[in-house]
Amino acid sequence: MSLFAGHRLIIDEYPVRIKNIGDEVKKFRDAVKFVIKDLKQTKLSTETHYGKELADIFSAQILILKDEVFLEEIDKGIIDQRKNAEYMVYTVFRERQEFFLKQKNEYFKDRAWDIQALKRQIIAKLKGQEESYSLSRLSIVVASDLTPKDTVTFDRRKILGFAVDHGGKTSHTAILARSLEVPCVVGLHNFSTIVEDKDLVIIDGSSGLVYLNPDKETVEEYKEKQRQFDQLESELLLEAGLPVSTKCGQNVEILANLELQDEVSAVLHVGAKGVGLLRTEGLFLESEQLPDEALQTEIYSQIANELSQMPVTIRTLDIGGDKAISQIAFPPEANPFLGWRAIRFSLESTKIFKQQLKAILKASGLHKNIKIMLPFITTVEEIRQTKALLGECKEELRKKRSKFDADIELGIMIETPGAALLSRVLVKEVDFFSIGTNDLTQYTLAVDRGNEKIAKLYSHFHPGVLELIKKVISVADKNKIPVSLCGEMAGDINATIILLGLGLRVFSATPIMIPAISKIIRKTTIKEAERIADKVINMSSSDEVEKYASKYVKKIFGNIIY
Ligand code: PEP
Ligand code: MG
Repeated sequence: MSLFAGHRLIIDEYPVRIKNIGDEVKKFRDAVKFVIKDLKQTKLSTETHYGKELADIFSAQILILKDEVFLEEIDKGIIDQRKNAEYMVYTVFRERQEFFLKQKNEYFKDRAWDIQALKRQIIAKLKGQEESYSLSRLSIVVASDLTPKDTVTFDRRKILGFAVDHGGKTSHTAILARSLEVPCVVGLHNFSTIVEDKDLVIIDGSSGLVYLNPDKETVEEYKEKQRQFDQLESELLLEAGLPVSTKCGQNVEILANLELQDEVSAVLHVGAKGVGLLRTEGLFLESEQLPDEALQTEIYSQIANELSQMPVTIRTLDIGGDKAISQIAFPPEANPFLGWRAIRFSLESTKIFKQQLKAILKASGLHKNIKIMLPFITTVEEIRQTKALLGECKEELRKKRSKFDADIELGIMIETPGAALLSRVLVKEVDFFSIGTNDLTQYTLAVDRGNEKIAKLYSHFHPGVLELIKKVISVADKNKIPVSLCGEMAGDINATIILLGLGLRVFSATPIMIPAISKIIRKTTIKEAERIADKVINMSSSDEVEKYASKYVKKIFGNIIY
């Protein structure tokens, strides 16, 4: 057990002379800049190691620190009250923290911990304090308070778990720890003040219990639980390289979703047979300038090379909505998710679009293992216009004698109810479909996928969403084109059996979930899956569907929470 006590900040309060006020404001602004830079780095490394969803936690924190109104409140405090920056940061952040703590909604309450984390990081910078994350041995980290940054900065290989006095179940620290598969119990009040470095601690992340110096029996009981869990995990990975087919012999293709920054090795490690969705936004979001054709060619070629025997489906730029890029002036929109995003942006920004298409084409010449996928298609014209541009790109490359795959496949994502309902027409235009359930759910249920206030309404188990998935699969089957599903639903273990029963035979999922969904597929028959899918599609609510499906998963994994 290690006590993480690097953050007991003592706040100094002292007056600042008028002639030094400007310097004090600058000191504060520099500290904010430093923390933003630091968070950006943490965001990047989190994205590389753990994926975009977790990294977004840091984007949200960066946004708080870019709120000029908030920052100006602190500038004003320093100027008007002639108080030192550290004290004003403490005061203004604490007020905001208290505001969130008073909210009834648990989610907003937990946002107070983000404010607390930022407060601590800025004050630590103002005081010139360095935080130490080194652990000399395997440890449970016990802390009064842990920021999301702390959570991802400790060496994952040395962490057995986190036990934290502050924070709620939906605080970002808890969400991060869960996703990193590190047991974490939060809200322990004064636990960090009563434990000592040499104490024995058990933390049970699934029940939220923490034992301090437990008796022998409890230790034995938990050793057994740990053993069962480890066994399940290693069994899953052992099977990773094997082909995936159902008990009745139906082959299922398992592909991985990849962000550009992710390591390709993760795809191979879990036994995926290629990449079903390579998101390219990261390349545009991270760099100061738009990535040019040469840079894109290099990056796409590298991935195509590393996975030379496997298909790599590159999705063209999907920006707009919640993903604006700084290099382009997006006009303010009342409803960005219904606005100028993805293919709509690309078709009006032909220089950028053609650069990307040419880079993809050039990379395709190496092993002919690349496919092009268009996001957010809602009309047939969008496909035709893209084909015309692709034709121009091919022509230009031919003139330059550049090698490319002349028969490169072109597919589309089905992400809106309109596209699903029009799939009988769209199918004639393309080589494959991929169902993007993240957006399909958002647009079918009219629920903003990023809005926590209505998060309960957002569920890919909604029978309406299932109907649309079924329709798209059946249209693709009838027209003999491949159809995959690449939304988060593909990696949701409670959805696997339903999707299989709806006719899905190609899953493209987050790498970390691939061993588990492969196991479910191997344990089931198509007949059983069809029975379950038939039953749930006729149910009346998302909850009912999910509960029913989760019972099935429990039968496979037992009571071990995966
Ligand atoms: C989707 O919408 O399901 C999808 C895979 O695309 P993204 O999550 O990038 O919008
Ligand atoms: Mg999408």
